[in-house]
Amino acid sequence: MIQRLLILAWLSLLLAACAIGPSVPARQACEAASFTLIDNFAGARRGRCVASGDNEVRITILPESDGYINDSAWFAYRIVPKSSATATITMNYRGGHHRYRPKLSYDGIGWSTLPDEQVRVSIDKRQAIITVPVDDREFWIAGGELLTPPLYDAWVTKMTSTGQTRSSVLGASLDDNTITLLRSDNEAKDVLFLVGRQHPPEVSGAVAFFAFYEALMADTVLAGEFRQRFHIVAIPMLNPDGVNEGNWRHNLGSTDLNRDWGPFRQPETQLVEALLDRLDNEGRQVRVFLDFHSTRKNVFYTQNDANPTDPPHFTRTWLENAKPRIENYEFNYEENPVDNIGVAKNYMYKRYRIPSSTYEVGDETNRAAIIAAASVFAEELMELMLAEI
Ligand SMILES: [Zn+2]
Repeated sequence: MIQRLLILAWLSLLLAACAIGPSVPARQACEAASFTLIDNFAGARRGRCVASGDNEVRITILPESDGYINDSAWFAYRIVPKSSATATITMNYRGGHHRYRPKLSYDGIGWSTLPDEQVRVSIDKRQAIITVPVDDREFWIAGGELLTPPLYDAWVTKMTSTGQTRSSVLGASLDDNTITLLRSDNEAKDVLFLVGRQHPPEVSGAVAFFAFYEALMADTVLAGEFRQRFHIVAIPMLNPDGVNEGNWRHNLGSTDLNRDWGPFRQPETQLVEALLDRLDNEGRQVRVFLDFHSTRKNVFYTQNDANPTDPPHFTRTWLENAKPRIENYEFNYEENPVDNIGVAKNYMYKRYRIPSSTYEVGDETNRAAIIAAASVFAEELMELMLAEI
């Protein structure tokens, strides 16, 4: 009898130590004893979650679609404390691998990368285990800054308040979110065309986009002259649905928008095509095109000599001019033949024979360096466009 009681006591201790809770699906709060893990906000991504101990949860990180999807394993969730503890969060990846260094924010504005000793990644990169102290503050953990539509709206308001640009509604996404268009208020015929955020997790590219555009709007002689001579067109965020959903790659039509320039099967890319037609009908001429993204390094993808541009060798000259002025930001340019994949830069080259580049920023590139470099790239682009177009 005593032996049976001892076994029962031992079993109940063991069960309490494991404290496995129910497995809850995405968008449902996951309760550990010392904190709750939630994913009910724009940009969140988390699959099933189970509390595996008082201070431990296991979550699944998975992409928006089955089958092949680019391995951009975005994750984002929020920790709501119940008591002080050290939380352990095990992230198990399905359909992808650990890629982004986890970042933490207490206010959604300032972000810091978790030190390596708080992130243990398995050799096959299918699992990452995060340990993080929990006090009385809520915080987010994500693959990068949460740059969601409200933040873009605030930025657009700041830009239009300079009086140097006008915003309008380009149209609606598949999920009826607004896609914003920025255009110069001038009659200039020659157009600089910028696009951002076709791919939801690519926030380092978004940081570059903001800084680049702000340099175009700056209160300097160069920028002032440029704004008189050129018509600036920008779509800061082409894929708001994907951003809201925390998607790795697609819009809500399960499509990589940067493979749909040409086919134009999605509402978002159809808006771009209609805008280009409108510019053509206004008698404008798109002269330079840039599309902002993130990848594992800082690189520009552009045309090679088999696909001559007007002006010739423009991108190479631009980037070589910028190079001596740029510090703490290593970058290269890769010149490739234009192919028939519906990538924005290829479509724009084929339509206009213009210098057309994908502006790629490393996932983990220092944010201050991205901003400083983007300002220089913008200044050198303005100089060269003024000189050669
Ligand atoms: Zn991309």
